[in-house]
Amino acid sequence: AGVSPFAELPGDIAVSFEFFPPKTEKMDAQLWDAITQLAPLSPSFVSVTYGAGGSTRERTHATVARIARETDLRPAAHLTCVAASKAEIAEVADQYWQAGVRHIVALRGDPPPADGGTFVPHPEGYASAADLVAGLKAQHDFEISVAAYPEVHPEALSDQHDLDNLKRKLDAGATRAITQFFYSTDAYFRFLDKVLAAGIDAPILPGIMPVTNFAAIRRMSGNTEIPGWLETMFEGLDERPGPRALVAAVAAADLCRRLYEGGVRDFHFYTLNRAEQAYAVCQLLGVRPKEA
Ligand code: FAD
Repeated sequence: AGVSPFAELPGDIAVSFEFFPPKTEKMDAQLWDAITQLAPLSPSFVSVTYGAGGSTRERTHATVARIARETDLRPAAHLTCVAASKAEIAEVADQYWQAGVRHIVALRGDPPPADGGTFVPHPEGYASAADLVAGLKAQHDFEISVAAYPEVHPEALSDQHDLDNLKRKLDAGATRAITQFFYSTDAYFRFLDKVLAAGIDAPILPGIMPVTNFAAIRRMSGNTEIPGWLETMFEGLDERPGPRALVAAVAAADLCRRLYEGGVRDFHFYTLNRAEQAYAVCQLLGVRPKEA
């Protein structure tokens, strides 16, 4: 009796961290502080996002190339189909290959807000992530990860279409999927059951997004269920960032603990370029820095 539910967690898990490319010098310093703090946890890879509308092409490349050059980490570059021809995407992919980057997170991408939220393929571009995966694979033998949606992509024609689409991406050469963030373990495990029933055996890493800003999460949630108990947990904290961050770490660690109990051993963290949350959650899961 009296033993913490975290006490039994031996740290036999793999973690990966996602960052976004910084816009300013101050944000750059914050990103590198986060990378430096999280690196000792030996992530299996770290990924860098690509801004909506393809707006961060140079910044994503510069960040990924610097990680490849200056650290022992294995960087993954996000790449989208938005506002680019196949030739332009091939050029970006070539630059990554030449910089020693071997892992791409291939996405369709979201359109710039000016386009009214509807994705319209570039006339000489890729129409979907599955097409992008095939194009990248034909070019270089990249390791490729793709997106998956436990609660179904908002544009999907049906649950089955969305699952078929994930299968197309894996059949085209991707070897791993990373999920959209979620807070309902039931939604994730129901999705895993369907994935397995569809004959997919690639790892489906849960994307863990600690709730650093509950109001923003509520706005961004799309199809993502925000359970009532989570809402209650963050009640009244919108204007209290300190307590909110502490509650967020506990809530994310508890989500991971329940996923661990269900057999999950591979976790992907949306860090938002801050180390504290991801580090605290890893600590509670039993992950410790490797001795240098
Ligand atoms: P796709 O897999 O192409 O699917 C999009 C939708 O279209 C799905 O509903 C699918 O079922 C449907 N669809 C696809 N092909 C067909 C077809 N032939 N017929 C009918 N329906 C079809 N966005 C960014 O801009 N930059 C990022 O760095 C970024 N990183 C992300 C990382 C992760 C882990 C995740 C989960 C998402 C990320 N996103 C990013 C968001 C992503 O770009 C959006 O969710 C986008 O709307 C869909 O991208 P996708 O790769 O899942 O598209």
